Amino acid sequence: MNDRFGGGTVTELGEGWLQVKVPLPYSLKWVNAYLLPEGGAEEEAGWTLVDPGLRSDETETFWNGVLAERGIDWRHIRTIVVTHHHPDHYGLAGWFMEKTGAPVLMSKVARDNAVRLWGDGETFSAELTAVFAEHGLAEVLAGDMLAHMDGFAAKVSPQPDDVRILSVGDTVRLGGAEWTVYGGEGHAPGHLLLHDAASGRLLCGDQVLPDISPNIGWMPGGDPDPLGSFLDSLRRLESLEVSLVYPGHRDPFPDYRERIAELLDHHERRLLKMAELLANGGSGGRGDSESDVRSGGVGVSLGSDSGGRGGGDDVSSESGDGERDSGGSVNSAGNGSEVDRAGSLDKSAFEVCELLFGARLRGNTHNLRFALAETIAHLEHMAKRGTAERFETATATGDRRIFYRVSD
Ligand SMILES: [Zn+2]
Repeated sequence: MNDRFGGGTVTELGEGWLQVKVPLPYSLKWVNAYLLPEGGAEEEAGWTLVDPGLRSDETETFWNGVLAERGIDWRHIRTIVVTHHHPDHYGLAGWFMEKTGAPVLMSKVARDNAVRLWGDGETFSAELTAVFAEHGLAEVLAGDMLAHMDGFAAKVSPQPDDVRILSVGDTVRLGGAEWTVYGGEGHAPGHLLLHDAASGRLLCGDQVLPDISPNIGWMPGGDPDPLGSFLDSLRRLESLEVSLVYPGHRDPFPDYRERIAELLDHHERRLLKMAELLANGGSGGRGDSESDVRSGGVGVSLGSDSGGRGGGDDVSSESGDGERDSGGSVNSAGNGSEVDRAGSLDKSAFEVCELLFGARLRGNTHNLRFALAETIAHLEHMAKRGTAERFETATATGDRRIFYRVSD
């Protein structure tokens, strides 16, 4: 039933599972929801829904069509599982809860983040915009960012009130199998993965994606070293015996350990590239910064998925591969002149971001946000490893500015 409901599709997997590609208004195009039949093919026994998608008129229409075509009544959905709180996965959870009466299973950390980001009186949008300004994002761009952030609340409303907390180490019976809950960090705090040891199936959300690398975004008030946490998570999760991975984006894939190795390698190379950019500015030449990654099969540099509050996803393949437009160094978007830097080699995260991904990201607030959050995550990790130093200075008006310099 390709493209019949808002551009999304449904694919029949083995054992009655349905992979529902819920459309997204981003370059990543869709998020995977999974419908798992309880008790084999007996639809009457009900279904478990994993990661229902972003809320919009389009996705509501899509889901109405999918369930009607499959003969699934709302009340047949018994359980809703959310792997992480990003809007492209969590956004429809409350809508489904209200229609089905089913509880929403998610981690406490994910629940807390959802409330922090979209609850009444939230201050996260302003905090993020302010800290991006400290990292060199020009004021005019910061204004775009604030407006962009404010657009997300409707895409995750209503938030579910019947939430059952899933914790790492729990076992839960879903879709006729016994699943063990594992935790992953770096892409989203409190991210959960579900592993069925008997079959080797892994519902992994965005922790391990094929073709694209999950966005690793730093955000205020969150994990101070999300990249370090991500790499540690992958090394820990690598020991799982996995026959087939069911990811949050793209299609199920079998080569779990190979993919983890590629992701680890991708970020090590990205860290080396960042050190080179810090040391040499834009001297590396136009468009070279990700060719190594693409040829290595990792796909997109900046990965696809959301760093925090946003709609998830994207700086995806379309936008992630052009890299720098000018090849030259970029002024810190207008505020360089007012800053007393510690030295000429210092760069803001925004400058490094533009060197790496290209100034044209300025035309796409959504992608710019993830690109900058990912750049900060790498620079902060370098500071933690000791391969870069972090400096703070003040503008003439007393505003903090943050810079990085490669270590000797
Ligand atoms: Zn996602």
